[in-house]
Amino acid sequence: MTALLPECPYIGRFAPSPSGPLHFGSLVSALASYLEAKAHHGTWLVRIEDIDPPRELPGAADGILQQLQQHGLNWDGEILYQSQRTEAYLATLEKLQHMGVTYPCQCSRQQLKEQGGLHPCRCKLKDPSAPSALRLEAPTQSQITFNDIFQGQQRQDIKHEVGDVVLHRKDGLFAYQLAVVIDDAFQQISHVIRGSDLLDSTPRQICLQQLLALPTPLYGHIPVAINADGQKLSKQNLTPSIDAKTASANLISAMHWLGLPPPTELIHADCSELLVWGAENWRRERVPPVMERVASS
Ligand SMILES: [Zn+2]
Repeated sequence: MTALLPECPYIGRFAPSPSGPLHFGSLVSALASYLEAKAHHGTWLVRIEDIDPPRELPGAADGILQQLQQHGLNWDGEILYQSQRTEAYLATLEKLQHMGVTYPCQCSRQQLKEQGGLHPCRCKLKDPSAPSALRLEAPTQSQITFNDIFQGQQRQDIKHEVGDVVLHRKDGLFAYQLAVVIDDAFQQISHVIRGSDLLDSTPRQICLQQLLALPTPLYGHIPVAINADGQKLSKQNLTPSIDAKTASANLISAMHWLGLPPPTELIHADCSELLVWGAENWRRERVPPVMERVASS
């Protein structure tokens, strides 16, 4: 593994997909990555992960950016839009093809289901002229371990637990795993702080980084918010958007979630005061390590 040098500057990021407005769960992720970066005098970037148009809502990207600003979460530098990164993704796919570690696949959902959802090895194309997905052939020795900042030691055997993952979909869309790895390297991200719903994806991303000789950032997965029915707060289950009229109160709730309750004298503080206090008082060890917590409202 190519380790980051200790003198590398801290560069964090928040990378929402524009499938709807910010809700409490995504505000917590944004705030955690922001406070981590600011506590380390780092840079905080925003990347819009708009590579899945069927799941996107028109205007959602601008809406998210506006909501971040309304909460005082002002990013550094230019915003990177994944929809403008096609050339970089295609170049990497070509590189992986040249390395002989990818193969085309036309397997149906049903076939995958019969194999327990895993695609374990190369398959035969039914019709070479028909569209196919491109899969990454996981290395036979694909045991990936990493130490998560909040969740501790993690281990996954890609070949046996995940199988050969799709990098380029049959419909021409790029897979999240591919785009995120290329863009984290492109933006020289040193720390990835995000929700624990992505913990399981991280070994695949590290595997791709190793194949492409890219540096591996440090990862920290914060607990994701679930509702009383045990579902992750998401746009799909109609979790309400956060209301900018109560921005300070939203930040205070999110800080409580992260084990960082502001003192009573800050109850009426504005967002920028809260964020300054938050960065000064941020402690990794106070973030609760559990992967899922029930949101109170
Ligand atoms: Zn297949």
